[in-house]
Amino acid sequence: MAYYVNRNIKMTWWEKIYLPEIIKGMAITSRHFFMNLFGFVPFLLGTKKERPIMTVYYPEEQVQYPIAYRGRPVLAQNEDGQPACVACGLCEIACPAYCIHIEPGENSGKQNQYERWPDVFNIDYAICIFCGNCEEACPEEAIFMSDDCEISMLDRKQMLYTKEQLLTPVADLQKRIEFTRNMSAKWNY
Ligand code: SF4
Ligand code: SF4
Repeated sequence: MAYYVNRNIKMTWWEKIYLPEIIKGMAITSRHFFMNLFGFVPFLLGTKKERPIMTVYYPEEQVQYPIAYRGRPVLAQNEDGQPACVACGLCEIACPAYCIHIEPGENSGKQNQYERWPDVFNIDYAICIFCGNCEEACPEEAIFMSDDCEISMLDRKQMLYTKEQLLTPVADLQKRIEFTRNMSAKWNY
């Protein structure tokens, strides 16, 4: 569901004097503060299995991200183990951070049934801005934004992912694939 910001809201006199709105905001913040503070007591005492609070004990607990979430981009891997990518280079051109590097491989008639595929396909997550342009640009449904955001490293060089590291079975991407198809239909591409 898309959210739109209405920038032409006319404030009432009550809102223009700010003080009541500040008090209202402080009340909401305080409510959440005390809810979080006391919310885990029954959980710790073992009387409740779930805590009625917003925070999660990461990494033991994980947040279920919405399907529109843009984590790290990954390459779809067909059932035969090959990437769905044909190395057209559109995602590389569309990438505003210049973090995709592709070297195409051409078929001389011996390698496999594919006419063209990426010999090299690297994404440098250290400079990726997770914009999703690569996913939008791809004509082959070969690159998708996953819900994985756990890619922090101690060494930036380790954030350069190769084709083998990027490959993700197409079955694991089904929900995102459906989502992008629906969005493309909506935008009338
Ligand atoms: S998400 Fe954006 S920045 Fe990252 S690889 Fe794709 S196009 Fe480039
Ligand atoms: S991922 Fe898609 S857009 Fe990028 S090179 Fe492969 S087929 Fe082309």
